[in-house]
Amino acid sequence: MTDEHKRVFKPDPVLSGITAEEEFVPVDGHKLYAKKDSPGKYLSEALRNRMRLDGKRFWAGDNISDFVTESDREHLINEATEAFETVLDTLLIDRETDPNSKGTARRLAKMYYNEIMAGRYEPAPDATAFPNDSNDRYEGMLVVRSELKSMCSHHHQPVSGVAYIGILAAQKLIGLSKYTRIAQWCARRGTLQEELCNDIAREIMKATDSNNVAVYIQATHGCCENRGIMAHSSLTQTTVLQGAFKDDASVKKEFFDNIKLQQEFAPR
Ligand SMILES: [Zn+2]
Repeated sequence: MTDEHKRVFKPDPVLSGITAEEEFVPVDGHKLYAKKDSPGKYLSEALRNRMRLDGKRFWAGDNISDFVTESDREHLINEATEAFETVLDTLLIDRETDPNSKGTARRLAKMYYNEIMAGRYEPAPDATAFPNDSNDRYEGMLVVRSELKSMCSHHHQPVSGVAYIGILAAQKLIGLSKYTRIAQWCARRGTLQEELCNDIAREIMKATDSNNVAVYIQATHGCCENRGIMAHSSLTQTTVLQGAFKDDASVKKEFFDNIKLQQEFAPR
């Protein structure tokens, strides 16, 4: 154990009786920490306990960045590596001599935390807002097309598609790339497409203070194409309409007309 790891690790006071760093010990020489005399108590367990006690939901599609620090993430990757090793062993894959399976457990652990589920552990992208309140303020509709990569929480299979985000400009505007950053932050979790659509709409409303937001997603689902019904195409469309997009038929029509124009320009 290096001093560095000892320094960054903060035991969770919620785990009853644990207040001092010394009560955690490295397990089997790994950079794992477990409660002394109770090797089952890993950091992931401490964090789950804390979220339960705080009434914080931690479903696959939830952001839990308030509970997981950068240094926690490093420890969690180590814990997940060990857990994936157990899964590979149970699948009877020889990770000792198969050169392609050596290191796979660690690759999986890093991929989950840093890539395909990164949107659970990272805080919201910060979206600087610019005032849109002068006399010649923009009052029209904005439609932004955002590529999405996600993963279904049922099967952990890839979901791949595009979101079209529509907004009627309010008193402030955010940079164009921020729409996509927010959408990708919502997508990089375990999701259902229906929930993802709601999540993106909610976060865009939060970032822009606009009540007039629409999100249309079309995506293909690995769980329908690679397994189960082995569908040739699993293209699924979902729409969330808020404010004028819901209440005003002409606004709704303009949104879908814009999507069609976008699709002619860049077909999917
Ligand atoms: Zn699925």
